[in-house]
Amino acid sequence: MKRYVLESYGCQLNMAEANALDILLRGAGLERTDDAHQADAVIINTCSVRKSAENRIWGRLSYYHHIKKADHPIRIVVTGCMAERMKDDLRNQAPFVDAVIGTNEKMDIVEYLVDDRIGREDHYRFMSSYYNEGDFSSYVPIMNGCNNFCSYCIVPYVRGREVSRPLDEIIAEVEFLSSRGVKEITLLGQNVNSYSWNGYDFPKLLYQVCRHLGDIEFVRFDSPHPKDFSPELIETIAGEERVCSHIHLPMQSGNTRILQLMNRKTTRERFFSLVDSMRSTIDGLTFATDVMVGFPGETHEEYEDTLSAMEYLSPIEAFMYYYNLREGTPAAKMEGQIPEDEKTARLERLIEEQLARSARMKSSRVGMVCRALVTGVTRDDKQALLARNAHNEMISFRPSSKVVIGDVVTLRTVSLKGNTYLGQEA
Ligand code: SF4
Repeated sequence: MKRYVLESYGCQLNMAEANALDILLRGAGLERTDDAHQADAVIINTCSVRKSAENRIWGRLSYYHHIKKADHPIRIVVTGCMAERMKDDLRNQAPFVDAVIGTNEKMDIVEYLVDDRIGREDHYRFMSSYYNEGDFSSYVPIMNGCNNFCSYCIVPYVRGREVSRPLDEIIAEVEFLSSRGVKEITLLGQNVNSYSWNGYDFPKLLYQVCRHLGDIEFVRFDSPHPKDFSPELIETIAGEERVCSHIHLPMQSGNTRILQLMNRKTTRERFFSLVDSMRSTIDGLTFATDVMVGFPGETHEEYEDTLSAMEYLSPIEAFMYYYNLREGTPAAKMEGQIPEDEKTARLERLIEEQLARSARMKSSRVGMVCRALVTGVTRDDKQALLARNAHNEMISFRPSSKVVIGDVVTLRTVSLKGNTYLGQEA
């Protein structure tokens, strides 16, 4: 029997695709191992979103090259975004890599490893399921690719144009997940709310998904684009109890000129008005966001606009980073690249303010009663369980009755320790 090591890096869609690939490989009679010395093949599912992510992959490649040189005839397969973006570089700089398989042909790895052949199709293929057996949470990819071409982002070049998954396949997967005891699903796509298939847009899809949930209690979606948040979508979220009222709304910058340079197709004012309309329609709404500082040409005043916009949005969680140059994107050629130390200083202040804001917001939520999915046992106290609520907040509690991982419980938060609430059954 052939054995394989499978490593996956980067976004949730990459993780979901790695799961699907793993299921197919096991279904084809191969066995997964964590030990490369026992493996016939190593598959690295790569990420290109930042230079640091690519550097990490080069490090992994040199590790596996070392094993291969020591006479272990391991086959090295590179797939994912880096395989798409740097096909020639990988072939030239890492000739020990046996196959470079682009992100849209990822599932061809099964044929490559089983039958020693690679079939090629130039369109993205969705799998019938991305479920990892035994999990209580699952990703459900619904679209792939991006048509937006934000000027700093490599994704449209490596993932290609948007392709939406047929509605009946999505519904079939949701019903399957419900039958396996899954309690939480996340609809996934690079630009998830631009879903479009046979007259079904994202609000219509979300409505249909909610009619087939069975015991699934939490429905999330990631990552949306602000420009595709229609009034219908906001109404649908507000009207569906099981769609989590915790929305990831990537802001990127709080300044209109920078947003335009980023090609984000929105302005500071339009973003604020979207936030207002979501707040006035969706009960108990919380936000997560992505925000970037140090974009080429960003002045101090424009940076201050981002800080004030963060205060306006007041996200409960934020993914904060500074601009990283990606070769092959329009922003890489822009004038006014900001020095590293200045970008670091801007990011540090942003993080400091957000940590304080998030701690304040969480403290004010002590005392809330919420439903939460039990995800595991706490590290420090083996008698306590950890649960995640609709707002992606973790609560640790000592169960008073028989509660197991995968149950959904009602909890009251009684205090806050770091980022985690201490709670009790309500
Ligand atoms: S919306 Fe922009 S940031 Fe998101 S994947 Fe598309 S191009 Fe990249």
